[in-house]
Amino acid sequence: MYEFGCHCKQLTYCYSGQPECCYICHCTDCQRASGAAFTSNIIVDTADISLVSGSAAELCYSHNNDQLHVCCCQSCGTDLYLYFESRPATATILTGTFFQQHWFSPIAHIWTQSSVPWLKLDDGLPCFEKQPAWEDLTALWKSQKA
Ligand SMILES: [Zn+2]
Ligand SMILES: [Zn+2]
Repeated sequence: MYEFGCHCKQLTYCYSGQPECCYICHCTDCQRASGAAFTSNIIVDTADISLVSGSAAELCYSHNNDQLHVCCCQSCGTDLYLYFESRPATATILTGTFFQQHWFSPIAHIWTQSSVPWLKLDDGLPCFEKQPAWEDLTALWKSQKA
């Protein structure tokens, strides 16, 4: 079981389950939404996330012909996890919010066509210029775990 939470520490969750995948995304959507050069994402079953303390604000806005729901802290605004309305059973946790960072490691960089020019991707992970097939990502994740 792993805990994740916001910057002001009021909102915390725990996660226990088998993630579907973990990857680093360099798409422009992630850059805008996070204010950072890239995001590190772990894909999980939403049912495996449970609230420990605080109460979340859930923002919702249109994105790619879907509604994106973002669960964030009411006080400090930290985004903790998100899911699409069309697939509510699958959530993306932003991995920087985990209190423990040792138990997962990304298996690929995706959307590298929009990675920032000063970033050197030389960690040996597979790089995909755009969105790879979901099966390709999960296969990489499983082979890392094997
Ligand atoms: Zn907070
Ligand atoms: Zn992205």
